[in-house]
Formats: sequence, C-alpha cells, structure tokens
Amino acid sequence: MRIIHDPVELQTLALSVRRTGKRIGLVPTMGFLHEGHLSLIDEAKKRSDFVIVSIFVNPVQFGPNEDLDKYPRDFEHDRALCEEHGADVIFAPAPDAMYAPDRSVWVEETKLSRGLCGALRPGHFRGVTTVVAKLFLLAQPDVAVFGQKDAQQALVIRRMVRDLNFPIEIVTAPLVRDTDGVALSSRNKYLSPADRERAKVLSRSLFAAQRGELDADGVRKAIAGTADKVDYVVWLDADTLEEPTENTREILVAVAAYFGTTRLIDNVLIQEKK
Ligand code: AMP
Repeated sequence: MRIIHDPVELQTLALSVRRTGKRIGLVPTMGFLHEGHLSLIDEAKKRSDFVIVSIFVNPVQFGPNEDLDKYPRDFEHDRALCEEHGADVIFAPAPDAMYAPDRSVWVEETKLSRGLCGALRPGHFRGVTTVVAKLFLLAQPDVAVFGQKDAQQALVIRRMVRDLNFPIEIVTAPLVRDTDGVALSSRNKYLSPADRERAKVLSRSLFAAQRGELDADGVRKAIAGTADKVDYVVWLDADTLEEPTENTREILVAVAAYFGTTRLIDNVLIQEKK
C-alpha cells in the first residue's frame, strides 16, 4: 500500500493505473476510521481493482465555530486499517497542497444542499462538493463509495455527478451501527459515557418510526426530551428531500441533535407501501 501526500503524484499514478485497464475505486474520508468507513472500503474493493482511500480533514467544509482543530486524527491506526482491508493507496494531502491561498473556484449544488445540515452549517456542502470534485479529478475513479450515514451528502454528490457529467458511478453504502444501535461516527469519540448513553435515543426513536410506532412528532418529542439541543427532525421524500407526495418511493427520517457539545446525525429509510 502506498501513501501519497502530493495531489499531482496521485493524479499521475491514477492516470497510469487507468491506462492499464484497471477500475479505480475511491473512498473519501476525513480519517479516524471506524467500521462504517471500512464497510465502504470493502464495497469499493468489490467494485474495482485499485482502491484509493483519501484521508483529509477538509478545512473548507467546517464553519468558523466548528470542530476543525479538534477533529480526531490517528493516521497510524488508519494506515493499519486501510492496509488490513486491502486498500492500494492512502491519499493524505496537507491542506496547503489542496488549496492555493488565492483559490477562487468553488463547486456548489444549489437545491438539495439548502435544507437540513446545509441550513444549519452555511458553506458546508459547498466545501464538500468542492473537495469531492477535486478528489474525483485527482483519483480518476470509475466508482466512488459514500455512506448513507450522511444521507444528504450522498444525494448532493449524486446530483453534482449528474449535473456536471462526471463519468463516475456513485454507490451509497448502508449506515453501520454499533451493537447498541448508535450510528458509528468519528465524532462519537467526543461523547462522555453519560452522553453516549443518552445518544441512543436517536436510533431508538428512528427504529420506532420505522416500525410505525412513532410519527414525526413522536420522534421529535422523544429526541427533544433527551438531547441538549435538536437541530432538526425531518420526514422527507428520500430522493428529493422535499415533503413526501403520492409519488414518494421512500421516506427519509433524518435527525441532527447535540449531546453536550457534540452534534450527531442519524437517519433511517422507510419504504412507502403502494
Ligand atoms: P467522514 O470521515 O465522516 O467524512 O465520512 C467518510 C465517509 O464515510 C462518508 O461517505 C460517510 O457517509 C461514511 N460514513 C461515516 N460513518 C458511517 C457509518 N456509520 N456507516 C456508513 N458509512 C459511514
């Protein structure tokens, strides 16, 4: 497994790999890898011949009062896990190598990124689409794997790929949970044991919604009664992120809430009975 820091070196390698006829799979991450990330690497392995995992805490997707500086990092642990899961390359650039001080080009999705996390984290999705577009041009993937954990992000990326004609297949892999139901997240590391216990309310209420035992209001009440602050609880068409209609195929129930100072997101999908 090679570790590459230089963007141009990655692009040169990726172009040469493609010339040999191999399919490249890309898994973009911010590191501090857990089983959720590893499931994406495994999925990329199945769908390609050469897997590139990027590890980059992308500064431009963090707001001024967010956790950029304290975002957890453990490169040696990540390296061992990537190796174990058969990645071919880790791409770990420094921020300066990705962004020129006088950069002036952004990639922005203007519809799906407006609500939910986009409304509460201004500029977040513009940072995500910009870095993912750059990673696509550097890693030259045939297929890129994202997690359903970040449901809105996956939709925004799909829309970017469709609207800008990136020749890349986007795969959305299922959300991976801990044994107690809590969605795996690098940010879980911030939780105190008591907050971690309280955080179970997210998956518990979402599962109850899935079983038809709670409606949107019920989910909202359950979470508001336990979390320190609720950013949103929504019940939307999973393809459009708009209010469900008679054409809705699948409902996305998505939540974002704080436990202590840690903001967690979680979601489930509910098939509409036709
Ligand atoms: P992050 O490192 O948090 O930016 O996440 C990198 C990728 O891993 C994104 O596509 C996430 O959606 C995905 N991911 C993070 N947590 C999970 C999880 N629990 N299950 C599945 N995918 C995940």
